[in-house]
Amino acid sequence: MEIKNGIPVSPGIIISKCCLLEAEDFRIQHKVIETEQIEDEVERVEKAFKNAAEQVRELSSKYGSDDSGIRDIFAVHVGFLSDDSLIKRVSKRIREKSVCAEYAVSSVFKEISGTLSSSPDNYVRERVSDIYDIEKRLLRVLTKKECYDLGSINEECVVIANDLSPTQTASLNLDYVKGFATNAGGRTSHTAIVARSIGIPAIVALEDITSSAEDGDTIILDGYKGTVLIRPDSETLEEYRRYSDDTIAVEQQLQKTCDLPAETTDGVNVSLGGNIELPQEADIVASKGGDGVGLYRTEFLYLQSEKMPSEQEHYDAYMDVIRRLAGRPLVIRTMDLGADKMPSDGKFPTETNPVLGLRSIRYCLTTANLPLFRTQLRAILRASAEGDIKLMFPLITTVEEVRHAKMVVRDVMEDLADDGFDYDFNIKIGIMIETPSSALISAFLAKEVDFFSIGTNDLIQYTLAVDRANEKLASLYSPGQPAVIKLIKEVVRNAKKAGTEVCVCGEMASEPEFVPLLLGLGVRRLSVAAPRIPEIKLVIRALDIPTCEEVARRAGCLETRRSIVNYLRDTLMGIVPEVQ
Ligand code: PEP
Ligand code: MG
Repeated sequence: MEIKNGIPVSPGIIISKCCLLEAEDFRIQHKVIETEQIEDEVERVEKAFKNAAEQVRELSSKYGSDDSGIRDIFAVHVGFLSDDSLIKRVSKRIREKSVCAEYAVSSVFKEISGTLSSSPDNYVRERVSDIYDIEKRLLRVLTKKECYDLGSINEECVVIANDLSPTQTASLNLDYVKGFATNAGGRTSHTAIVARSIGIPAIVALEDITSSAEDGDTIILDGYKGTVLIRPDSETLEEYRRYSDDTIAVEQQLQKTCDLPAETTDGVNVSLGGNIELPQEADIVASKGGDGVGLYRTEFLYLQSEKMPSEQEHYDAYMDVIRRLAGRPLVIRTMDLGADKMPSDGKFPTETNPVLGLRSIRYCLTTANLPLFRTQLRAILRASAEGDIKLMFPLITTVEEVRHAKMVVRDVMEDLADDGFDYDFNIKIGIMIETPSSALISAFLAKEVDFFSIGTNDLIQYTLAVDRANEKLASLYSPGQPAVIKLIKEVVRNAKKAGTEVCVCGEMASEPEFVPLLLGLGVRRLSVAAPRIPEIKLVIRALDIPTCEEVARRAGCLETRRSIVNYLRDTLMGIVPEVQ
């Protein structure tokens, strides 16, 4: 038996046979052509772009409006394939270098993927797989090479490949393909997004799984842990079969929870929302029984395109979420760019210490960047006339920042009124508490805003001085650190005193063992990763407030992360063993 670990991008457990896809290798020769052949090659390129775009349109038409995530990806590919400037760039290469069409396509696409792969931004780097996908399609059209049709798989299997392009993923025949695992990929790659939206278990970033597995091998794919077990022994197989049956039973129980309120056994209602990055994820929030979106991370609007989004693009995205939420409330966070989320236009400042640098609200409030901040605020305020919207500022550290941001909002409101636009004049304004500074002055900040949302992901990072993305420090980076719990307690206490609403929207709220602690500290609003809503609701429905208060009191007396986390895990195990 061999075990491989990667990044789980879509949950579930599958035991099946392996279908191994060999890499699709094209040999692109540097073929120099005669002057009189040049225009023929240019014509071949133009036709190839046209045919390839047609293929993608055809593939896209197989999906309905429910699959808008997949259709959006196809639309990006069609956009590329219909981009005149790109076609001209390839044609220019043929004319200037006297090379064949295949070579020109390959060399231009290599340049584009080279630029994207050297970006400091993860999201942009992960777009390279889309570029490969488009290039391969063009080369297949040019070389008339048939690609293995994934739709032709007619035996139950788990697909193992070096990488699957978004279009390949979308064309899997789901009657037979039960999951997939790839060497390449990342959490936010389009392939991962497609896997989540078609709902099959998937693991990426397994590095060399294609050299370990052979076609026909028995495979266990654990999409919860991100583990692939190749040729498992009979004991492991038996264990996983039982585990798989248990998870199916829990999934069924969770499914039933979707339509029930997030209410404790002693009748206290908890508002349980979902976090989203893309508008289509609002559908998951609605289908999982979430009470709206507690955190819309709008920076993905900036990361998806080479240029800054226009007011209309912002507005369209917000209206899309409003429609999908069908009356449920939506908290829109203004852009939180910088550190781990860098835009692709190359204009963002390069700094020695970006996590502590000119990022997030600080970036927006700098004079030179006020226009782009105002553009986003205009769109949010215009959308506030159409749905239940709250406005939230990230990474606040001082009272001055909040006052400055609110002043810009008022200014934008005046402009909108002058321009004849409607907006919610009483829109609720809140801030994220993500730094020790904002937690410590939360009594002052509470007087300035309508609500707080505690961003534990950054709060842990800044409290413990530990990079949230550094896996070597994973044991230090924990919501169970006493310093973090003390800060949360302080924030909730100050918010309560001032009558300011307080929500927890960091990953801590998605971790079941921390839910009793948060409720015990007085938190009554949580916003969690959208797919986790049913699980967290199940936990809430098994708790009562006096027990939670006792948990918070006892955890508050413990001195180490280990003792706190062990205590919280044991407590949860005693109350809701099925979610462990
Ligand atoms: C957080 O910091 O907890 C948070 C929710 O924001 P993000 O993860 O987007 O930084
Ligand atoms: Mg944050």
